[in-house]
Amino acid sequence: MLRPPVTERNPGTRKDNPVATNMQHGNSLSTAQNEELRADLDALETALQQLLDNTEAGSKPVNLKDNVGRLSRMDEMHNQSILLANRNVTSNRLQQVRLAKLRMQEDLYGICESCDESIAFPRLKAYPEAAMCIKCKSLAETD
Ligand SMILES: [Zn+2]
Repeated sequence: MLRPPVTERNPGTRKDNPVATNMQHGNSLSTAQNEELRADLDALETALQQLLDNTEAGSKPVNLKDNVGRLSRMDEMHNQSILLANRNVTSNRLQQVRLAKLRMQEDLYGICESCDESIAFPRLKAYPEAAMCIKCKSLAETD
C-alpha cells in the first residue's frame, strides 16, 4: 500500500489559506457574477427542457395514413428530419448546461477545461454552458 503523499491538499483548510485560493481554485468571477450565471444556467436548462418536451409529439414516426399525397408525405419527412436535428442540438446543449452546473458544484465552473485559464465573463454570459475559453474553443473548431 502506498501512503498518501504528505503534501496532499486538505480542502477544509481553504478558508485559512487565502493566498492559495486565487491560484488553485475557482474562476476570476465575482460572487455576484457567479450567482448570475448560476441563474442563467437554471433558466437555460428549463427552457431547453421545455423545448424538448414541446417538440416531442413531432418527433414520432411519420404516420403515412394521415397524409394525402406523395408530396405532403415528403414534406413531412423533410420537416421531421429538421426537427430531429434541432432536437439533437437542443439535447446536446442541455447536456452541456447540466455539465456546467456540475462544474459549478465542483468549483470548476468558468475555468477552461483545456488550458485552465479563466473564461471571460462576457463569454459565459453569452454561453453559460461554455467549458472552454474562446481561444481553445476556436482552436478546437478549426482542427
Ligand atoms: Zn482555454
